[in-house]
Amino acid sequence: PVNRSPEMQAERLKLPILSEEQVIMEAVAEHPIVIVCGETGSGKTTQVPQFLYEAGYSSDNSIIGVTEPRRVAAVAMSQRVAKEMNLSQRVVSYQIRYEGNVTEETRIKFMTDGVLLKEIQKDFLLLKYKVVILDEAHERSVYTDILIGLLSRIVTLRAKRHLPLKLLIMSATLRVEDFTQNPRLFATPPPVIKVESRQFPVTVHFNKRTPLEDYSGECFRKVCKIHRMLPAGGILVFLTGQAEVHALCRRLRRAFPHPRPRPPEKEDQKDSVEEVRKFKKSRARVKKAQAVALPQISLDSYSVLPAGEGDEDRAAEMDDEEAALGSDLDLDLGDDRDDGADGGEQPDASLPLHVLPLYSLLAPEKQAQVFKPPPEGTRLCVVATNVAETSLTIPGIKYVVDCGKVKKRHYDRVTGVSSFRVTWVSQASADQRAGRAGRTEPGHCYRLYSSAVFGDFEQFPPPEITRRPVEDLILQMKALNIEKVINFPFPTPPSVESLIAAEELLIALGALQAPRKAERVKQLQTSRLSCPITELGKTMATFPVAPRYAKMLALSRQHGCLPYAITIVAAMTVRELFEELDRPAASEEELAKLKGRRARVAQMKRIWAGQGASLKLGDLMVLLGAVGACEFAGCSPQFCEANGLRYKAMMEVRRLRGQLTTAVNAVCPEAGLFVDPKMQPPSESQVTYLRQIVTAGLGDHLARRVQSEDLLDDKWRNAYKTPLLDDPVFIHPSSVLFRELPEFVVYQEIVETTKMYMKGISTVEAQ
Ligand code: ADP
Ligand code: MG
Repeated sequence: PVNRSPEMQAERLKLPILSEEQVIMEAVAEHPIVIVCGETGSGKTTQVPQFLYEAGYSSDNSIIGVTEPRRVAAVAMSQRVAKEMNLSQRVVSYQIRYEGNVTEETRIKFMTDGVLLKEIQKDFLLLKYKVVILDEAHERSVYTDILIGLLSRIVTLRAKRHLPLKLLIMSATLRVEDFTQNPRLFATPPPVIKVESRQFPVTVHFNKRTPLEDYSGECFRKVCKIHRMLPAGGILVFLTGQAEVHALCRRLRRAFPHPRPRPPEKEDQKDSVEEVRKFKKSRARVKKAQAVALPQISLDSYSVLPAGEGDEDRAAEMDDEEAALGSDLDLDLGDDRDDGADGGEQPDASLPLHVLPLYSLLAPEKQAQVFKPPPEGTRLCVVATNVAETSLTIPGIKYVVDCGKVKKRHYDRVTGVSSFRVTWVSQASADQRAGRAGRTEPGHCYRLYSSAVFGDFEQFPPPEITRRPVEDLILQMKALNIEKVINFPFPTPPSVESLIAAEELLIALGALQAPRKAERVKQLQTSRLSCPITELGKTMATFPVAPRYAKMLALSRQHGCLPYAITIVAAMTVRELFEELDRPAASEEELAKLKGRRARVAQMKRIWAGQGASLKLGDLMVLLGAVGACEFAGCSPQFCEANGLRYKAMMEVRRLRGQLTTAVNAVCPEAGLFVDPKMQPPSESQVTYLRQIVTAGLGDHLARRVQSEDLLDDKWRNAYKTPLLDDPVFIHPSSVLFRELPEFVVYQEIVETTKMYMKGISTVEAQ
């Protein structure tokens, strides 16, 4: 029996899904798989787990599992449901990539989809669950798609064992044909229950003209107008990224100020130079062992997993929003920083506006602010990225301002080169956004583009699995003994090219058995790819990082390289450790400050990269030095601030190092690894080994400097040539090897901005 507070009960009763409880529960009782569709905000995520709980689906110590594609939602929803049910978070819990509060008592568990995929590797039948809910299936995240395919099989296997597992798929927009009209996935189409939403009408207003560039400015003007002229009701603005969100928040706060509680003043910044000096000193002590000849790492000596052992949870999930950080122009500058970018607008304190940002990377306490009623006499205005589109429902929104854009990482299918692009959303997304205005009363949606432009939008956003490389996914599937990936019941299959590219890479890394040549030709001709996984591949699959990096870890047991390889891999996985300082400055003063910081960061990078042998490890040596120095200084926010490091990223590196250390210990317990905050820098010969290890992992990311005799065209000046690209690629100016221009390099990734730039570079010895 659930003991809810009367207020909570009253609030629940307003949700449209409450009247469907019986229908849903009957369908679940009668069918192994049920699809529930309903408008965002109708109560699917918060209520369906409660229905199941009350119907006894968590009896006998089993768990009701709920997956979310976004970490934000997994955390927020577990808290909300615990509160509604008047239960502790020991019972209604969450698990995301590095953290969670699951206990023995947990009965409802919210988790990211990557976490559940990892659990399937440990226990294919998912025996601790009686029911699994795949939430937000319309988002079509790669992991949710795979889970749908896997669970369709697991449900059958569990039925054979007379231990039935129920699967619920919940989705917002009604694009369920990919699931229902897909006989390979579900031989009998599962029933679809549509929740009628008590959605109030939303009047959609299109702009006559579509602004070409400045949609942020257009958002600002629209919010001002709404706030000055229209009746009470919250405003929700959709922008594309963190930087824009903060900029608009600042602008709006300046235009409609009201007294806000100030955060406590920061402590005086400690001089971190001293800390760095200490680190350098300890490093000098180690430098004694000099290698005589070029040491060699054996590429055939790698660690493999002792039979039958698994590792910690894994989730390779990363929001585009997070991944896009490096391309964002401003990073979390603090909410109250004033950049004076738009003088001339008279502040109007008679109309206070309660402005709040909302995006994935925002600290959970700050995210939770949007659910609270705004202070007396103020109007709520939430400036959000895509997260507010479906996963979170903000109460009291009457006006939506939609810029119509979304920022996504785009991958070139052949070369893997990525770029961040701001593109138009789909019609389905735009309608979702509009729907946010009609939750509590009739609302209005202002689209900052014309109806003609809307008419040209794609109907639905393409599923993620069709948009990005899939080697990580293929490795995970092979580790589940799914050999013929092509036969897997994907809701939407990835392209054959990307499947082939993934297999080729995994074969090159030694994770899959290379078929004989003739056999491979036949496979490629018929698209029947079926290379089995190797022992090395199984080990690699247990490391929660991309296959290229996993290979590095597997090779690093030699010569005491593991702690360094773990640190480098963690830093490369988290990416963008350094603050973005190449942003435009709003004033002379800010420009001077930025310049100072840039110089400081460049200097620190040079120090961390060192000279001679260590410099050859290039940017990866910088990562090692940065993490080493930061941990040596206790990873304080002050140290990060002083050295241009992102504090959040450094904390994430710390957690990932811990997680990787555990995973590596499971593979080679004799290594007895632990995370050492006072890690000594690698010796010169270790640096050489590390370069070989890095080259083994990034072998397909090799570039050679264009020789001067080939320099026919000026566009090839200082350029590099890679096997896959016809066009020149360049060393990114932020690299410590920017001026060194070594002949051979390997790179972490190529990102296209004004040019194609290689990032995360290490040198390779010419053989
Ligand atoms: P759906 O999953 O169908 O989109 P939800 O179950 O997420 O719907 O939300 C149902 C209702 O619960 C929403 O109308 C929202 O206002 C309310 N709600 C959700 N989370 C919170 C929260 N943290 N605080 C207050 N209200 C919330
Ligand atoms: Mg939901």
